[in-house]
Amino acid sequence: MVLLRVDANERPIMSLATLAARRDQAFGAGAPLFYNAPLHIVRGEGVYLFDADGRRYLDMYNNVPCVGHANPHVVEAMARQQGTLNVHSRYLHEGIVAFAERLSALHHAPDGGPTIESIVFSCSGTEANEVALRMARLATGKTGIVCTNATYHGNSEAIGKLTRIGVGGNAAGDVRAIPFPEMLRPLVPGASEAELVEAYLDRLRGAIRSLEEHGTGFAGLIVCSIFANEGLPDVPHGFMTRAAEVVRAAGGLVIADEVQAGYCRGGRWWGYEITGFTPDIVVTGKPMGNGLPLAATAASRKLVEGFRTATRYFNTFASSPLQAAVGMAVLDVIEREALRENAATVGAALKSALAERKARFATIADVRGHGLFVGVEITKTDAARTPDPDKAIEIINRLKDKGCLTSNAGAYRNVVKIRPPLVFALRHVEEFLPAFDATMAEIDG
Ligand code: PMP
Repeated sequence: MVLLRVDANERPIMSLATLAARRDQAFGAGAPLFYNAPLHIVRGEGVYLFDADGRRYLDMYNNVPCVGHANPHVVEAMARQQGTLNVHSRYLHEGIVAFAERLSALHHAPDGGPTIESIVFSCSGTEANEVALRMARLATGKTGIVCTNATYHGNSEAIGKLTRIGVGGNAAGDVRAIPFPEMLRPLVPGASEAELVEAYLDRLRGAIRSLEEHGTGFAGLIVCSIFANEGLPDVPHGFMTRAAEVVRAAGGLVIADEVQAGYCRGGRWWGYEITGFTPDIVVTGKPMGNGLPLAATAASRKLVEGFRTATRYFNTFASSPLQAAVGMAVLDVIEREALRENAATVGAALKSALAERKARFATIADVRGHGLFVGVEITKTDAARTPDPDKAIEIINRLKDKGCLTSNAGAYRNVVKIRPPLVFALRHVEEFLPAFDATMAEIDG
């Protein structure tokens, strides 16, 4: 680690080095940090973060504080509830019931498909996905799960099996990965969009068949509704609608992981509205508590009751009055400040400004995304547009030096990921663009 040298004359460097060394000791080395020179952040407000030296950064990365860092309405609700009552879920409490009702009502099944009626709360996206997997396995009596090949759904042993396993990997177990659907590097080069839908569906059918042949049977498909960790690909039109049909025809359930895609991120309440399917089970997490650990697995009453009866699921910190108060406060702010509409309009302006820059900077191969979730694909300038993760990392480090926080993501780690709090406004887009232009001018070519 570069920063281990302590220089008594340069306070910021010394303090970063000292803290980094203490962190290595306290955490054990290996805990990830962002950026070549890590940031020491001490305060947040709205879309801004402030480091120990008082420098202000425009936060274009953090989706958890969706209604803004240190949102006063959320802080007040949290303090008030914690000062009144916070206790586990085995007592009646109206707050958590009302929150579950309000959250369920935000879902709708446009094609008369399964209705979201009941909710199991938990404390992280991983836990909520675990609940979803178990729910699907209990309901179908099968264990086989299909996921995509460059996804991330969480860090537990069972959910970790779904992470970046590679197409065809793990064939002996009860997980199969299919190629994530995309237009930029399509499964069949030169194919029409309709042909691509069929090609990707064939992989799905093949994975289901493989699970059935290996005796585990098929319980369901789990996808991030907008394939966020894969790099926000443009999905061949109609793929997810058809995929959901294929899954149901095979007796499986469709699990929408909305941990990143949900809560207005894409300018719609849910990512499944963007890719056009109706899930049986919806998983949410990150933004729900604006930083308070709060996650949910939502489904029909029948599915939820099947799970509850079989498992007697209990989660000490979940379904608490505190989760309810904070979760309600977040929904209040989203609605009161029209943050869904904000994500749609500001996100569209950001995306089109970046798309314009594709013609100016040769390393930008593609600009994609939905609402306030935009990916800028960085490649070499060869004919194959080979992904260039090193350049993407250079860009995010230089953007950080100019006061804008982003990160890199995607199947090839070459996508500059822009995903600010939902309170990001047009003036913040204006603040970002000069930093982006300067950065691209420095590294392009
Ligand atoms: N699902 C998706 C799509 C995610 O991106 C993540 C976290 N990055 C998770 C689930 C896991 O959430 P958590 O870290 O809260 O367990």
